[in-house]
Amino acid sequence: MALIVQKYGGTSVGTPERIRNCAQRILETQRAGNQVVAVVSAMSGVTDNLIKLSKAVSSDPTEREMDVLLATGEQTTIALTAMAINDMGGKAVSLTGAQAGISTDGVHTKARIVNITPDAVRRMLDEGNIVMLAGFQGQNQSGEITTLGRGGSDLTAIAMAGAIKADLCQIFTDVDGVYTCDPRVVKVAQKIPEISYDEMLEMASSGSKVMQSRSVEFAKKFGVRFEVRNSMNNNPGTLVKEENQGMESVVVRGVSLERNQAKVTIDDVPDRPGISSIIFGALAKAGIVIDMIVQNVSFHSTTDISFTLSAAELAKAEEALKPVLPDLGKDVAMRVQAGIAKLSVVGIGMRSHSGVAARMFGALADASINIQMISTSEIKVAVTVDEAEIERAARAVHTAFGLDA
Ligand code: ADP
Ligand code: ASP
Ligand code: MG
Repeated sequence: MALIVQKYGGTSVGTPERIRNCAQRILETQRAGNQVVAVVSAMSGVTDNLIKLSKAVSSDPTEREMDVLLATGEQTTIALTAMAINDMGGKAVSLTGAQAGISTDGVHTKARIVNITPDAVRRMLDEGNIVMLAGFQGQNQSGEITTLGRGGSDLTAIAMAGAIKADLCQIFTDVDGVYTCDPRVVKVAQKIPEISYDEMLEMASSGSKVMQSRSVEFAKKFGVRFEVRNSMNNNPGTLVKEENQGMESVVVRGVSLERNQAKVTIDDVPDRPGISSIIFGALAKAGIVIDMIVQNVSFHSTTDISFTLSAAELAKAEEALKPVLPDLGKDVAMRVQAGIAKLSVVGIGMRSHSGVAARMFGALADASINIQMISTSEIKVAVTVDEAEIERAARAVHTAFGLDA
């Protein structure tokens, strides 16, 4: 008998028929002789709608109340799926994150899991139940409801699989697995049979939202292997696991795109110690997450600094910087630009192959797409381009690295 954790995403439980489809799959998994914990997301659109509702009643809802609100989405789905399973002759019980022993820190709306005490889950499994577990939620030390950040049901599944030492963790979604690029953008993208944690993590954190990046970080840290599969068919999916030697032979595993980015440039800042610290200190204090940072070499004692961030945080960043600009120098000016997007190529093979950046830039040049900013890591090359060009850029780069099916 194996212990299996499955996770079904929002689209997979998006209608009553789809909930029954998932219930059927969960029940079949148990009837094949396994113990099953099934994590579900809110039905598709529900979390977004709850956020909209909160904005309709308040201009500035507290994050504590946001968590109380958002956690209801998953609570609906666990109960409905458990009812469907029971209706099919199975035996299921639903548990909230708190009831399942998921303890988090106190950072409302993006809490981190600090501990899992799965006693209730184990007991219910041993009593022959399917455990329906609410994704995306936990409780902090004071017993308040917390949520784990958008896409956080992936993290619930992987963390629970780690805590109960599951034999298998399956993430069911609305595509057949992890592809070389978002298959909705690059139609000729291919399913990747196996991918390393590091590659999956870089792809997820550079915009491939098929997995929440924090869940992949967790899986790597605790060695939880998992597969990504389609909830609507039985096609083989993608296995995400520790890297092996053969994996390095592929230079670029995948291409990611991230829209809704913005760029801030601060011109004519003096080239002396402490300047970057003032700028990024002010942004950090305002809790703004910065992505790429580029500073030019200075020739005449001044330079310019550019950085990117989510366009949604642009106004907040401008507000945070305005008061500190006068401290930087009298000619210092700030320029902002929304409507940009980031394109990244990712692969652990880059560590041992040269020419990756050149090939990427060549493909963009051939497509007459202007590169605005460039950044690299050991296994990633990323550029920003005009958002209107991002899909064309993704297709050109995907073809250039021989990834088209
Ligand atoms: P779920 O609701 O199941 O969590 P998500 O919407 O979070 O599903 O993630 C699945 C979606 O991720 C797919 O529908 C696909 O459009 C998108 N996606 C982005 N990049 C990739 C990729 N490289 N491979 C597969 N899907 C991707
Ligand atoms: N319902 C949450 C969201 O939409 C969590 C999840 O689906 O994983 O982000
Ligand atoms: Mg998701």
